[in-house]
Amino acid sequence: MNTVTTAAELKSIVNNFRSQGKIIGFVPTMGALHQGHISLVKRAKSECNVVISSIFVNPTQFNDKKDLEKYPRTYNKDAEMLQNVTCDILFYPSEKEIYPEPDTRVFDFGNLGNVMEGSQRPGHFNGVAQVVSRLFNIVQPHKAYFGEKDFQQLAIIKQLVKQLSITVQIIPCPTLREADGLAMSSRNVRLSPEERKAAPLIAQTLFKVKELYATKTIKELSTFAKQQIGTQKLMELEYFEIVNATTLQPADTKGAAGENVACIALRMGSTRLIDNIIL
Ligand code: AMP
Repeated sequence: MNTVTTAAELKSIVNNFRSQGKIIGFVPTMGALHQGHISLVKRAKSECNVVISSIFVNPTQFNDKKDLEKYPRTYNKDAEMLQNVTCDILFYPSEKEIYPEPDTRVFDFGNLGNVMEGSQRPGHFNGVAQVVSRLFNIVQPHKAYFGEKDFQQLAIIKQLVKQLSITVQIIPCPTLREADGLAMSSRNVRLSPEERKAAPLIAQTLFKVKELYATKTIKELSTFAKQQIGTQKLMELEYFEIVNATTLQPADTKGAAGENVACIALRMGSTRLIDNIIL
């Protein structure tokens, strides 16, 4: 695996590959890699000739500076994991490399950006759009892989690509879970042993919501999910919402399979976790 730290070098490598007709796949990450990230790299490997993964903890998407400071950084282990799945190129830029000057762009994703994560984390998606558009500009991928774990982020990125007319295909990838159901996340390492033991309730609640989906109303399902989470004293619910999977607005009808998605965000101590299930 070739590790590249400058945008100029990466651009020239990619130009070379593109002129040879190679399909470039891209997996952007913030590091602290787990098997969820690796599943994206494997998917990219199966569909592309050259796979580039980036590790960059993007400061502009952290509305909470403490969260940025505490974000786990495990570069050596990450590089080894990427090497093991034969990722071709690791792009590991400095902040100056991505933002030679402050990015003052303000994006507007309409209602997609106002709900759920958008309302809980002001400025978060603007920062995501800034970094992803910059990374796309440097990497020039044919295909880019994003996890459904961050369902709203995926919707925002699809919208970003449309707004900026970027010619990249966005590939959604399913959420990888631990054996007990907990969605893999870089933040899971911050859970205390007690919190980690309680955390599977999030996925269990979502699975139960899916199981009950055919027989209960949307209101009943919301009440059920909120009650479930309410039973766990270590959890502080931020939101549970059943929304239309395309518009992300509250679902009023159930529709066909895959039309809606149940999304949840909560805090356990100082750790914030999100998860979702497609209904
Ligand atoms: P992050 O490093 O958290 O910014 O995540 C980088 C990419 O990995 C994003 O596209 C995430 O949606 C995706 N991802 C994170 N966790 C998982 C998971 N458990 N399963 C699949 N993809 C994931």
